[in-house]
Amino acid sequence: MSDATNDSATASGTHEFKAEVAAVLRLVTNSLYTNREIFLRELVSNASDALDKARFVALVDKDLRDQELTPHIQIIADQARGVLVIEDVGIGMSEQEATQNLGTIAHSGTLRFLEQAATEQAEGKRPDLDLIGQFGVGFYSAFMVADRIDVHSLSARPGHEPIHWSSDGTSFSIGPSARKLRGTRIELHLKDDAKEFLDRWRIEGIVKRYSNFVLYPIKLQRVDDKGVNDGDNRQINAASAFWTRSAKDVSDDDYKEFYTHVMGGFVLPGDEPLARLHLSLDAPIQFKAVLYVPGRRPPDLFNEDAKALQLYARRVLVMESCDKLLPTYLRFVRGVVDSEDLPLNVSREMLQEHQSLAAIRRQLTRKVLKLLEDTATDEPENYARLWEEFGVFIKEGLHTDNAHREQITGLLRFASTGSDGKLVSLHEYVEAMPEGQEAIYYITGDSTAALARSPHLEAVRARGYAVLLMTDAVDEWVVQDLREHEGKPLRSVTQGGDLGLSKDANETKDGDEPSAEASDIDPLLRVAKQVLGDRVKEVRASSRLTDSTACLVDDEGGLSRNMERILRMANRDVPTRPRILELNPGHAFVRAANELAAASLEAAPEAGSEPPQPLRTWVELLHDQANLAEGTVADPAGVVLRIQSLLDRVAGLRTEEPTP
Ligand code: ADP
Ligand code: MG
Repeated sequence: MSDATNDSATASGTHEFKAEVAAVLRLVTNSLYTNREIFLRELVSNASDALDKARFVALVDKDLRDQELTPHIQIIADQARGVLVIEDVGIGMSEQEATQNLGTIAHSGTLRFLEQAATEQAEGKRPDLDLIGQFGVGFYSAFMVADRIDVHSLSARPGHEPIHWSSDGTSFSIGPSARKLRGTRIELHLKDDAKEFLDRWRIEGIVKRYSNFVLYPIKLQRVDDKGVNDGDNRQINAASAFWTRSAKDVSDDDYKEFYTHVMGGFVLPGDEPLARLHLSLDAPIQFKAVLYVPGRRPPDLFNEDAKALQLYARRVLVMESCDKLLPTYLRFVRGVVDSEDLPLNVSREMLQEHQSLAAIRRQLTRKVLKLLEDTATDEPENYARLWEEFGVFIKEGLHTDNAHREQITGLLRFASTGSDGKLVSLHEYVEAMPEGQEAIYYITGDSTAALARSPHLEAVRARGYAVLLMTDAVDEWVVQDLREHEGKPLRSVTQGGDLGLSKDANETKDGDEPSAEASDIDPLLRVAKQVLGDRVKEVRASSRLTDSTACLVDDEGGLSRNMERILRMANRDVPTRPRILELNPGHAFVRAANELAAASLEAAPEAGSEPPQPLRTWVELLHDQANLAEGTVADPAGVVLRIQSLLDRVAGLRTEEPTP
């Protein structure tokens, strides 16, 4: 009691703001802000804090005033007076508290940031407006829209008189008020250019955007320009943040509805989320989160400004899209994070570096990876869809998130020749490997159907080994990152060199065909290299073919053909390097060609003499086929000509070869 008397003796009257408040006010009113609407978020969150405090204090202090009042926040848009009112029945402020709390700046960073922005503006530079937009300056932000603010407040603690604080932004006065109920009523006398904030739809929009999940009902009433109350005092927020409830009390419908909200209010049928996560963690940091894996890939995932998780601090939205809450490769996850430990009033820059954020990110990353794992195990069909939409992002993580490498590897799925169109994990592939298979075989390209028919697979498949068919551009990096799995090396069937197939493999096929030794077709190899010249690096006998005559393989250590293709698509200048032509020594046509080659070498053994027709055309056609099997020929017209000449001969129309 005596305190209160004391207060009024020292505080009543007109006062100058503390220097730093004056500076902040100057900057705030200096129209630095582009995003003025955030003042309402700030005042609503103050009202909500005040209601929280009253509830909390009531637990220990039975003497609080007006305990029977239902906590709520009332907004009144008074068109007649040009005044916007925000009122609560919370803890209120004594005279001393009002002087103290509305006359100083709690956050030292605020002033520094604003001063820097103002300096930049004075220097003719454009301060980062977006940053400013994210910046809260609490109560003072109301001076962006008001040229005078009246605060009537009655402390809920007994022994205090109601007070009236009033300021035009340069100084403030404090005196008695007629307020009867506990709590605070803030009256903003709106500037002429801020009358839009009296509009019902505008207010509702702002409240829904930032304060929808504030726990207390926010009601809105409008008084028209003749002073007539429109009688409509609807609640305009959801007034509950179900993420604060225990997951078992939340219905599927609640999650569904909230998903729609997270996705911007619109979800097509069939696009329902593939997985969801509801978290409530207390240690080491307190936060709650509701996260979804969308049912369809959001269209903005490859954009610089892709949407990320929404960040709330105590149920008030502080960032619409905070990309620091999850690693980039998990950017397809959508939802909200609400922390008790984050300040509302810091810049985005400072927020991003807040150590709580890093702690939340660590937790979320672990939990999301676990969610993906669980989905893969418990709902394989869902996971297959999830992988279809987001696998390409998860693969990025293999390269960027070394700490979770093992988990991410477990999430990988690939098409395989051995699984009937189903995707397989590396573990499943290794499990299914027959006796004697030493490597995980794969091929990269742009369509699984074409890859599955590639001649490179023949010998491997003939042994009953499956081949992974990799069609994402990132797969080239995935295989480089992985190198091996469960002790088995990854081996491309298009890479030159030994495929690691067992030596006696040829014997395991039809016994009556003689085992074809590489040296058997030496003459053809020499002739072919002579005909093809620099177009191939080398011509050699193949151990990877059974049915086809020829294929091209990549130089060991060089870029794969697919990698060259990808880099070229990305407009990178990649020189085409000649590849190695492999011929199938077991194929009847190759052997026939070889006989011809042997005969021609015997007839003209000296090097440099031109091989005769039709040998030259045959070699060209073998090379053509190897290229065609991969879907790329440099000279399609030439191929057509050669095939036609062959057909002409078959039809007996021609005995001579065309001269190219
Ligand atoms: P912050 O909310 O971050 O503390 P603000 O500038 O928004 O900073 O508010 C300053 C202080 O003013 C608050 O901490 C609180 O003590 C007091 N205050 C503001 N609004 C209210 C209110 N509606 N009821 C009670 N106290 C309030
Ligand atoms: Mg505040």
